This record gives sequence, structure tokens and C-alpha cells, in this order.
Amino acid sequence: MSTHDVYKPSVYQEPGPPLDRENPFESMMRRFDVAAQILNLEPGIYEFLKTPTKIVITAVPVIMDDGSLKVFEGYRVIHSDILGPSKGGIRYAPDVTLDEVKALAAWMTWKCAIMDIPFGGAKGAVRCDPSKMSPGEIERLTRRYTANLIDVFGPDTDIPAPDLNTNEQIMAWIMDTYSMHARRTVTAVVTGKPLVLGGSRGRREATGRGVMTVTLAAMEKLGLRAHQSRVAVQGFGNVGSVSALLLHQQGCKIVAISDITGGYYNEAGIDIPAAIEYVRQHRTLEGFTGGDRITNEELLTLDVDVLIPAAREDQITPSIAQRMQARLIVEGANGPTTAKADPILNEKGVMVVPDILANAGGVTVSYFEWVQDRQGYFWSEERVNRRLNRAMRNAFEKVFHTAQRYNVSLRIGAYILAVDKVATTLKLRGIYA
Ligand code: NAD
Repeated sequence: MSTHDVYKPSVYQEPGPPLDRENPFESMMRRFDVAAQILNLEPGIYEFLKTPTKIVITAVPVIMDDGSLKVFEGYRVIHSDILGPSKGGIRYAPDVTLDEVKALAAWMTWKCAIMDIPFGGAKGAVRCDPSKMSPGEIERLTRRYTANLIDVFGPDTDIPAPDLNTNEQIMAWIMDTYSMHARRTVTAVVTGKPLVLGGSRGRREATGRGVMTVTLAAMEKLGLRAHQSRVAVQGFGNVGSVSALLLHQQGCKIVAISDITGGYYNEAGIDIPAAIEYVRQHRTLEGFTGGDRITNEELLTLDVDVLIPAAREDQITPSIAQRMQARLIVEGANGPTTAKADPILNEKGVMVVPDILANAGGVTVSYFEWVQDRQGYFWSEERVNRRLNRAMRNAFEKVFHTAQRYNVSLRIGAYILAVDKVATTLKLRGIYA
């Protein structure tokens, strides 16, 4: 192995941002600033809430299958632990940045506050391309990343979960690595685990189920009926496919779906169970014949009642917002609407159920999983779903009424609710000095 090979990081080139891509942390801060101003937040509290509590950047060396050594960059950002132990997923992606992780960590703080979950917010990531790595390489990467963060993670301190490109198996390796160091099995250190390792029933579908619940709640406010509604869903992974399936079961007509390979449109409605089966067999929608091919941009601007972006951030740009025809957007993904597109959507009277509310079903059932692990007593799927639906409905109503009270969008209403709760808790706890 040459010295060059040893020291060259595996992912060292950051792709340039797409034209409309916003810095995610600044994007989050713009909305936070509006809420902070409305709440008249004192400057010191404002400073405290915008600054992450802890940022860890760690080198993750991995022996690859060919015997070479590669060093990946790993991150864990704890944005806030004011409400309790911090909670947030881990993503593996070649283009992930620290700013993105900081934004995602802050979003977790606001999500937990809105949902009345006693957790703070965190997020983790490793810059790597898992599609080019073997299962063994991914396992070694995961275990070393966990070992590097052994003093950060813990059921009472910081609890990871899955996010983009991480799954149940990766959560099982995190649980096992942590447990090996602790010399005992600690299931509650991570959520999104396989059922047999202390996972929760209903966790896999939780985010999509939450999206379905708030979509129906928002449709009621707009006087839209499920059976008369046309829906487009961008992204057909965990969140997109489950949201599409559950809304389809509620009687909505899903006229378009898409994934990284492009979009599919069917005026009569896409057969969602068939599309899910197709992806199970072929991994993507490429070659799916249940609809006509459309571009992702066409999908976002279709003549539909409801649009559910459930892929990645920065999809609804000002230019898309101007051409959008949907009356309701429910943000299954994190950060799919750019801050610059917000005023255009407001102007057009489009109702946007913001990410920090719409996709909070995942963290809610993660919290249920943590509770079950700590009690050693596991709930039925029916109980999980019932409690999730109730939590989502309550949160939607609280956000809706906050937005009405301050005469702002649902997004700013959600931020006001969250920032106020964390700021009030902080003031009651006081500053330890
Ligand atoms: P996933 O990897 O299972 O699915 C992502 C889907 O989006 C795939 O179908 C992929 O092909 C598609 N996609 C990627 N880029 C695209 C593009 N440019 N255009 C169209 N489709 C594209 O991921 P997921 O878990 O479903 O997460 C999706 C989003 O939801 C992310 O923003 C994630 O942070 C957020 N989220 C997920 C959860 C969860 O529990 N999984 C919880 C909260 C938020």
C-alpha cells in the first residue's frame, strides 16, 4: 500500500451545490429567526438556542475488502439537550456536509418539542457512498464510528436512529458495539432496531403513517375529501411509499409517484401495492409500466390537490413554487422547500404542513421504542398506531391554532410553538455557571 493510498480520504471532493440549493443551516435559521422575533426572544436565549451544544468530527478508519485502509469523516452534532437526551438519525452519504448535519440536528430539537417528546435534538453522518461498499465494509465503518462516539451515545445522553442510507441492520450493529463496550446489552441506546432486538412494532411505517394522519387533518381544514383528492408523491423510499400506500387505502387517488429514476403518471391512479411490489423486486421504479414517464419537475408542478415531497431537501425552489398547482403540501422529507420559496407559496395561499411536524411520526415511534426498551414491555402494533395517530393529530391542532393566533403560516406556527417550549424550559432550568 502506498503512503498516498493510506492517507487519501475515500470521499474528498465535494460536489458543487445545484443552482437552487440553499445552505440548510441558514435555511433553518431564517425560519427560526422569524419565530424568535415574534416571540421577542432575549438576545442571550436566542444565541443559546441557535448554537449547537456539541459538535464531534471524527476520523473513521476502515480496512476495505481489498486490504487497503480508507479514512472517512464522521459527524455527530448535538443541537440541544435542554428537553432531555438528544435524539436523531445517522445518514451515510457522499455529499453530506457539517452544515447539513447542524440543520438536521436543530430540526430534531424543534420536532421533539412540537411532539411533546422529552428529547433534545441531534444528528449524525458519515461521508461515504454505501452503494459502493460491501456489507462487511459498512459494518466495520458503523462499528468504528460507534466506538469513536462511545462517550457521546447512551440511553440517557444521545440516542441515534436510522436516516438516509442507514437501516435496521446498521442500528443492530450500533446496539451491539455499544453493548460490547458497556459489558451488557443496552437496547435503548438506539432506535429503529429489528423487532427481535427490542425494536417497536409500527416503527418502519411510522413516518409515512404520521404523514397520512396530518394530510387527512389538513385536508379537513381545506374542505378536501379523501375520495375526491388527487395526490402526487415525490420519492418512493420508506416515507414516500408508506405515505402513498396509506393515503391510497384512505381513498385518495395517487396519480403520480417518482424516485431517483424519474416520475410515473397515471390519470386513473397508480396501483400503489403493485408499485411497492415492483420496487421490492427491482430496487427502483425503473421500468415500472403502471404509469406514463414524467420528469420530477413535471411531478412537482402537476395539477393535483396534494403534493407530498418525500425524497430530499431543496426540491421546491422559487421557480417550482411559482408553477405549482397543489393546494396542500405535506413535507415528508426534511427541508424539501427552500426558504426563498416560502413567501411564494404563502402568497399563492398554498397550505404547507412543515417537515418538523409532518414527518415527526418517525421520532414519535422512536420515542415509543425507547420507552418499551426501558420498560422491557412491548406494545401491540394497534397500540403503537393509536398513540401515534393521537400524537400527530394533537400536534397538528396545536400548530394550526398557533399559526392562527399569530396570523402566520403553519411553518412559522410550528417554529413558534417549538422555540417557545425550548426557551421556556431553558429559562426554568436556568443557566448553570
Ligand atoms: P429512502 O432512502 O428510503 O427513500 C428516498 C427516496 O427518494 C428513494 O425512492 C429515492 O430514489 C428517492 N429520491 C432521491 N433523490 C430523488 C430525486 N432527486 N427526485 C426524486 N426522488 C428521489 O429515504 P426515506 O427514509 O424515505 O427518507 C426520505 C426523506 O424523509 C429524507 O429527507 C429523510 O430525512 C426524511 N425523513 C425520513 C424519516 C424516516 O423515518 N425514514 C423520518 C423523518 C424524515
